[in-house]
Amino acid sequence: MFSVESAKVASMVEKALFVRVAVPSPLRRLFDYRVPPNFPALVPGMRVRLPFGRGDVVGVVVALSDHTEVAPGKLRSVSACLDSAPVLTPELMELLTWSARYYHHPPGEVFAAALPVLLRQGRAAELPQISTWRLTLTGMDADESELVRAPRQRDLMQLLRKYDALSREQLDEHLGQWREPMARLMARGWVEVQHQDQTTVCAEPSSPGGLDLNPHQQAAVGAVADSWGHFQTFLLEGVTGSGKTEVYLSLVERVLARGEQVLVLVPEIGLTPQLVQRFRDRLSVPVAVLHSGLNDQERLNHWLQAGRGEVGVVIGTRSAVFTPLLRPGFIILDEEHDPSFKQQEGFRYSARDVAVRRAQLLSIPVLMGSATPSLESLYNVQQGRYQVLHLPERAGGAQRPYIQVLDVRNQPMDESLSRPLIKTIDGHLQQDGQVLLFLNRRGFAPTWLCHGCGWVAQCPRCDAHLVLHEKRQRLRCHHCDTDIPLIRHCPQCQGEEFRPIGHGTERVEQAVQNRFPHVASDRIDRDTTRRKQALQQRLDQVHSGQTRILIGTQMLAKGHHFPDVTLVALLNVDHGFYSSDFRAAERMAQLVVQVAGRAGRGDRPGRVLVQTHHPDHPLLQLLITQGYGAFARQALLERQAAQLPPYSYLALIRAEATDRDQPMTFLKEAAELSSRFNGGRVMVMGPVTASMEKRAGRYRAQLLLQADDRPSLHKLLAPWIIALEGLKSARRVRWSIDVDPVEVF
Ligand code: ADP
Ligand code: ZN
Ligand code: ZN
Repeated sequence: MFSVESAKVASMVEKALFVRVAVPSPLRRLFDYRVPPNFPALVPGMRVRLPFGRGDVVGVVVALSDHTEVAPGKLRSVSACLDSAPVLTPELMELLTWSARYYHHPPGEVFAAALPVLLRQGRAAELPQISTWRLTLTGMDADESELVRAPRQRDLMQLLRKYDALSREQLDEHLGQWREPMARLMARGWVEVQHQDQTTVCAEPSSPGGLDLNPHQQAAVGAVADSWGHFQTFLLEGVTGSGKTEVYLSLVERVLARGEQVLVLVPEIGLTPQLVQRFRDRLSVPVAVLHSGLNDQERLNHWLQAGRGEVGVVIGTRSAVFTPLLRPGFIILDEEHDPSFKQQEGFRYSARDVAVRRAQLLSIPVLMGSATPSLESLYNVQQGRYQVLHLPERAGGAQRPYIQVLDVRNQPMDESLSRPLIKTIDGHLQQDGQVLLFLNRRGFAPTWLCHGCGWVAQCPRCDAHLVLHEKRQRLRCHHCDTDIPLIRHCPQCQGEEFRPIGHGTERVEQAVQNRFPHVASDRIDRDTTRRKQALQQRLDQVHSGQTRILIGTQMLAKGHHFPDVTLVALLNVDHGFYSSDFRAAERMAQLVVQVAGRAGRGDRPGRVLVQTHHPDHPLLQLLITQGYGAFARQALLERQAAQLPPYSYLALIRAEATDRDQPMTFLKEAAELSSRFNGGRVMVMGPVTASMEKRAGRYRAQLLLQADDRPSLHKLLAPWIIALEGLKSARRVRWSIDVDPVEVF
């Protein structure tokens, strides 16, 4: 007996497998585990529960292996398999593996980022079940006189005879306590229960069909439609209001007709409810929308349904780029220039670049749309990597707005409104036009100054001024969560006279109310839209015409269609052209054009005024007189001359700590260590302190890497980052790597 047993064990050990698992951990590697005998068969993409450190975690199997380098004494075993089939398809596994490698980010965190929270926590990958109870054939012929002493079972039988099938809700409604008698009826074999997945029902489209496309739109649709089943990146460069969304819809209909699914990525769903509505109104398939308002269960449901092919279209923000799709056919990325596609913390990926990579892995086309394409994408067009499609005119007869610079030097100003601007506002109001005033700074004033001694209210946790929020009588930091009552006694001179310096949207609103006391005005910024539905309500009042003057931040720049806005004014664009960030001019130009695009979208022509103290700035002049395309060509030449992206490739190592010296110490060691791996093709610049050194109580510093080609950069990064993990000084700081950073200051 004994020998037979041990032979059995031996053969199992022989068969024993190992798995490489992506475990949520800050370490940049996979972890090997032993698969116990008699364990369900594991496949890459399945989740497993594992012992890790002193805890117990959920990881994703990345590979199977018949050997391991880990010493037998150190090797631990998988404790449970959580899936009967992979939750991540081979395609997503490949995309995630590529992402971890490209962004040099710990694979466990990359895989975790792709999973809905509930799956990360180990919940079953199942849709909620809807149960219904019905009579069995035996039950139908049953003799109820058997139930004389079981009145509740009898009641239940009568109810089941009356209805074909009953759900939990219906039973709750008709009978108080039905579970116990139901169990007894089921034990008799008279009742059976059926479980069905909850599925999405799709309302009939309210406006199927769509518009007749104009020739430019037709050409764009035709070009993309020629590429189904192939990888190709298209850039749809269309002025605001040129009908890009119509092009998307027309293409989506074609993909759906092929029986395939579409992934649509947008910057912020909350800011563009109109886009989602247009998709729902037009299409006769379920549209899953992944937005921040969903609870964890809803998010999981949409995710699973997308993976099972039960929804035709998935619309989502950045992280939706990792949504599983059963029959992916096409990817659309709207407003591709938008910085929100880049995640700025943790796993710092660019959803735009990952989307292009995904399309390549899938051999499907990807379409990126914008009125103001990023310089990177325009460069890719120049290089022949992206195919550009133009929509040069506004669709539906609307004219392009007329943009004019307003030189405010030496002009008398009423707060931040120049006299010519006030006159123009008045004129447009008289003609029944709506007016939109744009200022990218919320609060009342960015500085709270003691008039007696010049003391300025400073955030105790950041190198930043506190911003005056006058309505709430608070001083707030816009970089951390500091929020304190208004300071009325100067801590330096005991003076009591304070001045707000500079202008925010709250102050502009007040100035407008003083100037136009009988005109309904409103303000849209993060402060007035915190409450759920607040944004929608405020937007509705603009659409209904109730609001005549609208003041707001960049929240207003995106996608909104206000047909009766005839005047748009940008109150201050100067900072964008004089910032130390090399992308500032590009951002400001995009903002000017996007905000300007809100003007004159209806029948009446729009006018746009740009207030500035630097009316002769060459890039601003080029933008205003010749448009975004001319601006972008010039800006690209300047980038080339300075060897900045897209003409070079950057990565940034950031470090922060509560101790001022630690980040610098770590980064200096890191810089020294880099020479061991650097073939001389990567410039290592710094370390330097961040432009705002202290933020939220931590001191920050950074090291910038620049290379002429991508491979050199990655060749240095790969071994160097691993070596950094081993540095002692690394343990005293929080550090991160940002490949293709969008903010380098
Ligand atoms: P974009 O996405 O480029 O801002 P939209 O697709 O929202 O543009 O179109 C702007 C406006 O023009 C919308 O009101 C839309 O209904 C209208 N429009 C678009 N295409 C056409 C067309 N081919 N014929 C008539 N109107 C159109
Ligand atoms: Zn003072
Ligand atoms: Zn702060």
